[in-house]
Amino acid sequence: MKKKLDLLQPATVLICLWLGLFACQVPTQEESVPKKWYKGNLHTHSYWSDGDEFPEVIMDWYKSHGYHFLALSDHNILAEGDMWVKIREDSIYQKAFDRYLKTYGEDWVVHEMDSGQIKVKLKTIEEYQPLFQEKERFLVLPSEEITDLYEGKHVHLNATNIQEKIEPQGGESIAVTMQNNIDAVWAQRERTGVPMIVHVNHPNFLDAIRLEDMLHLKGERFFEVYNGHNRVQNQGGIYGLSTEAMWDLINISYVKEGKPLLLGLATDDAHNYHQIGNQWSNAGRGWVQVRADSLTPASLIAALEAGDFYASTGVRLDHLKLEDNVLEVGVAAEEGVNYTFSFIACVRGADKVEVVSTVEGEVASLELKEDWIFARCKITSSKLQENPIEGILYEMAWTQPVQFQ
Ligand SMILES: [Zn+2]
Ligand SMILES: [Zn+2]
Repeated sequence: MKKKLDLLQPATVLICLWLGLFACQVPTQEESVPKKWYKGNLHTHSYWSDGDEFPEVIMDWYKSHGYHFLALSDHNILAEGDMWVKIREDSIYQKAFDRYLKTYGEDWVVHEMDSGQIKVKLKTIEEYQPLFQEKERFLVLPSEEITDLYEGKHVHLNATNIQEKIEPQGGESIAVTMQNNIDAVWAQRERTGVPMIVHVNHPNFLDAIRLEDMLHLKGERFFEVYNGHNRVQNQGGIYGLSTEAMWDLINISYVKEGKPLLLGLATDDAHNYHQIGNQWSNAGRGWVQVRADSLTPASLIAALEAGDFYASTGVRLDHLKLEDNVLEVGVAAEEGVNYTFSFIACVRGADKVEVVSTVEGEVASLELKEDWIFARCKITSSKLQENPIEGILYEMAWTQPVQFQ
């Protein structure tokens, strides 16, 4: 496999051209590299903003728990430049600092005493990335949670793989504030030529963002159908709509406006690494599984934009395919666990979705109909999620909406 891959290296291609052999034996990437599934979390916090742990410790947690990529998305900051944190006096934070120092050593950890408190210099992404990044095993993505406010309401959007910090753009309404920040990410993408994505975070957090604010966004392809923070009200806030219900209603509007479908992410939004429970925002609750050519930002983003991924809070899929307008989904079943597949679709002209089929088992399929504007599958397991929030008790997965072709 490696030899085949090497044939695609630019130097080899150049030599081939020089020898007049380009037409010979250069396999296409599709032939030589089967796509793989990569697990990742696109929303997490660290000491760089209001998370309570060092980036290295967080990276180590995700890597050692089977994740392939991680974005530390701190509020309005990229992990660059000088930044010092004071360690809180609480014994849990003191002990965590001791462990950090013991693990990484005096040569790595820059710290000093300041008025009786320990002060530590945070490592930049440039410093910590090489410690964890490994080809095809683990990727560290630069990220920022653009944290904006409109009349006291929180408007948060994550920008993944950005190269320069983006200041919150503001705007004359919630919708305009969102749009201005989305536009800023796209402007950076166009200017730098680097693939990057923006996604809408936890709309129901403090009941800030209403459905109407998201119906007419432009250039917004991703949305957190599940966020593992304990205060985000995935199941609905004062306006009553769950994020999943919002997702479908946004897509009904998107289709009417001729826009590509909005795709659903699950993320952790972890802040608390020392206290565990449903009143804390902990790591490990929500993630995406992305089917990509390789573990690089460009491949992952291309796969995400193609909708070749699913969101999960525990259910792992064994296969997921759309062929001849048949959507087939199979779980990697665990012993003693039952799975329910709910297929959800929206008929052209309708103003809401309906559950068009429910199947129990390990595999299920759905033949798409021409008059459906989209259909998707939600899988619910009978297995209790470890450390759940909001009474969302069972492990789940959401595939992306697809359309009849
Ligand atoms: Zn947020
Ligand atoms: Zn966050």
